Amino acid sequence: MLSGADSVSLGFDSHCHLHFHHFDEDLAKVVNDSKKAGISHILIPSIDRATAAKAADIAEEYDLYSAAAFHPEHLPEESTEERDWAALKEVLLRSCTVAVGETGLDFHHKTFAPKKQMHWFRKHIKLAEALGYSLIVHSRGAEAEVLEELSEPLSVPVILHCWGGDEQLTDTAVSRGFYIGTDGPLTYKKNSKYRRLISRIPRDKLLVETDSPFLPPEPFRGKRNEPAYTRRINMEIRELWGGRMSIEETSYILWENAMRAYRLHPENRRADILYKYGDTLYVNITSSCQNNCSFCIRRTEDGLNGYFLKHSEDPSDSLVLSTIGAFPIENYKELVFCGFGEPTLRSDLLMKSARAASARGVKTRLNTNGLCTSFLRDEQVARLLGCFDSVSISLNASGAREYNRICPSSVEDSWEQLMKFIKLVKRAGIDSQVSAVSSSGADLQRVKAFAERLQMSLRIR
Ligand code: SF4
Repeated sequence: MLSGADSVSLGFDSHCHLHFHHFDEDLAKVVNDSKKAGISHILIPSIDRATAAKAADIAEEYDLYSAAAFHPEHLPEESTEERDWAALKEVLLRSCTVAVGETGLDFHHKTFAPKKQMHWFRKHIKLAEALGYSLIVHSRGAEAEVLEELSEPLSVPVILHCWGGDEQLTDTAVSRGFYIGTDGPLTYKKNSKYRRLISRIPRDKLLVETDSPFLPPEPFRGKRNEPAYTRRINMEIRELWGGRMSIEETSYILWENAMRAYRLHPENRRADILYKYGDTLYVNITSSCQNNCSFCIRRTEDGLNGYFLKHSEDPSDSLVLSTIGAFPIENYKELVFCGFGEPTLRSDLLMKSARAASARGVKTRLNTNGLCTSFLRDEQVARLLGCFDSVSISLNASGAREYNRICPSSVEDSWEQLMKFIKLVKRAGIDSQVSAVSSSGADLQRVKAFAERLQMSLRIR
């Protein structure tokens, strides 16, 4: 193993194919060795439907990240492409999957006609933008064509993996703010021209990847590449950057670049808009809420079941709608607007989203704290309820005093507003229930009796 590696705490192998059979026998050891070498983070890109699922399985098991896409040399057959595309999107819904990749163009091998490659590259670009996922691009013998295709500004980070463009193309990529990935060949003695090229890339845009099991750095040429060898490439970069920084500082800068590129960094982390639990799909459109309930998961967690749900800034209407539009929501029993906050605070978006789901024949449910009567008129509430098949209202108490104790709110007369909302729900005749959290400290027998008086069914959570 590499000397002195144990002292390094943060490092990122930004592109490592742990899903390939080369790692089947000793995967746990490989991941463990990489951790010992200070490679704390690994992203596993994939090349088709099967490897996307396998990459996500590995990422979940070892607490890593994955990406899903069809590589330009592994495009689906026409007879199965619709099914394969839908299956790929299902993988993108998994909590560990944070990017679309690797997609792109390969005019070196030309396994598929350029026209077909371009068609799929464009589909992937559109999908990444619709979901707000980073885009990992493969280009071989097609660097100019890739940049041509990416000439319009994208709303998501672009990662040019294993970049092989010339100086002019590299400058173009840099001018567009793309991240550029470099690999083991950077360490090869004869590659001084390539080293000069990599020196042109701003320090905050360079990513290190092993592309394991391929392209091992010196002195491991001829062997299987591994994520632990990221450190060897980092050492080469330290030299390119003048050799004055410590290897730990160099690794940290490169780690932070990858965190930014994949939107994992606390400052720019992308929260999941859709998350699944069993056969139900949940929609997370806001992190705001008028309440601060004693049992609220937001008090202690950033998410649920591996999903990161805390929006640093609420997602735009268009991102929410395009995310719902891109996923095969028909595969789920129900679409529940629940969020990591109170969805009715974005009532216009909520209605548009619910209508879009209903138009596709998907059942919709609203989970709410029932306080929207404090800022919506009765007819607006009725219109909102008309967009849903059912509604679940957080009750949690049998009276105002208990409610204020368990669910302190910025809405002054919150209990009265909640009662008003329940009346409007009953008037609308919509399928409805109230709920209470068993661990909230409420007197559940009284809550049950109160729900009966309201003639509402009660679900204890
Ligand atoms: S109403 Fe829901 S989201 Fe808001 S604080 Fe209470 S539990 Fe949390």
